[in-house]
Parts: sequence; structure tokens; C-alpha cells
Amino acid sequence: MSEERDWIISAREIGISLDKKAISLFERYAQMLEKTNQSLNLTRVPPEDYGTRHFLDSLLLLQFYSFDRQNRSVLDVGTGAGFPGLPLAIVTPQAQFTLMDATRKRLIFLDDVIAELGLQNVKTFHSRAEDAAQLKAHRQQYDLVTSRAVAPLERLIGWTLPFVRVGGVAVAYKGQLTDEEIAQAESILKSEKGSLLRVEETTLPATDAIRKFMFFGKI
Ligand code: SAM
Repeated sequence: MSEERDWIISAREIGISLDKKAISLFERYAQMLEKTNQSLNLTRVPPEDYGTRHFLDSLLLLQFYSFDRQNRSVLDVGTGAGFPGLPLAIVTPQAQFTLMDATRKRLIFLDDVIAELGLQNVKTFHSRAEDAAQLKAHRQQYDLVTSRAVAPLERLIGWTLPFVRVGGVAVAYKGQLTDEEIAQAESILKSEKGSLLRVEETTLPATDAIRKFMFFGKI
């Protein structure tokens, strides 16, 4: 409980303020994650670190991306236990979120969380990214496509960029990146008709973990 408060304080210190309702939703999400994780492999992060390692890490994007208008559509590719899509959806009720994963069991857990939390702006979608990218209903349909810990960049670009509408962005949550990886990404992007728009860097508060955000767009 005290650790949860720590991450909420850290969030406020970097400009991400959570109201009472959001805090209670995160508490319930954490309880459900801890319980379900006993029977289903959802996360290796210990419960006392969910606040920082999952919730706050997911929300760090808000330092660099603004949900400035109504009805933005967001796709989270390889969402797993809901990261980063679900924490972003909790604090951004005006945007519409689709949480995609290739593993149905994880989505069943997420459907339970969405129902329990009463979230009206989130739905799940069972598919492999490479299959969904062929579907008209999803191809080039999203303002923002997120992914964290899903695949190496060379695969990730092909799994996320097809969903971005012109003018939108795909954002990859990454750790340390070498210049070589960035150069490699740039050459893959060329063949995918995309471009690396910017790379932003921050530190996950109360840890020494570096978080880099790679923003890709369509040419
Ligand atoms: N994004 C979550 C996080 O940061 O905690 C989950 C990361 S987990 C290591 C990777 C997730 O990507 C798994 O849930 C897996 O089922 C999903 N995944 C792997 N390959 C995929 C694909 N081709 N299409 C959709 N999801 C995929």
C-alpha cells in the first residue's frame, strides 16, 4: 500500500496527477493482477512493484504525448496484462483504446478487469499483429499505436506501423538503445515507408531504469 502511494507521488512530481477515482481503479487492477497471476503467467514483477514498474512506466508516455483532442483512437499491440494500454486508458477516458494480443488467456483476464473497473473506453482484440495488419477495419485506423516489451525493433516496426493512420504515430517503449539499433530501425523504416520522428528519454522514478520512446510515423 505504501509503495502504491510512492508511485502516485512520483507520478505527480513528473506532472501526472491521478484523481481519487483513478487511484481506486489502479488499486483494483493491482488486486486482480496479483490474484490472477497465481494461476496464469501474466507478469514476473512482484506485486509491491506493480505501481512503479507497470502503472507508472506505462504512464511515462504522457510526458511526451498529449491526448489533446477528443476521440483519439489507440491500439496497444502485444498488450499482455494490459501494458501500457490499460493504465493510459484509465487516465484518458476521452480516448478509445483497443488492447490486442495473440494470447487469448491474457485477454480474458483483461475483459474481467475492464468490466470490474467499468471502463467504457477500452476493448480487447484477439489477433496476431501481422494478421490484424491485413484487415481493413484496423489497417491505418489509429492515431496512436503503442507497444512495450513485444519484439525486437526489426519485427516491431512491421507489427505496429501498418495500423497508424496518416498523421498518427507508433510509439515503441524501449530500454537502452545503441546507435546501431537506431540505424537498423531507420533502414527498416525506409522499406516500410515510415520515418523515425524522434526519440525521447526519461528515467523511471525511484529506479535507475532508462525508458526510451521511439516515435515512428508514415511518410
Ligand atoms: N506489453 C506487455 C508488457 O509490457 O507487460 C506484455 C509484454 S509480453 C513480454 C509480450 C506480449 O506480446 C505477450 O502477451 C504476447 O502474447 C504478445 N505477442 C507476441 N507476439 C505477438 C504478435 N505477433 N501479435 C500480437 N501479440 C503478440
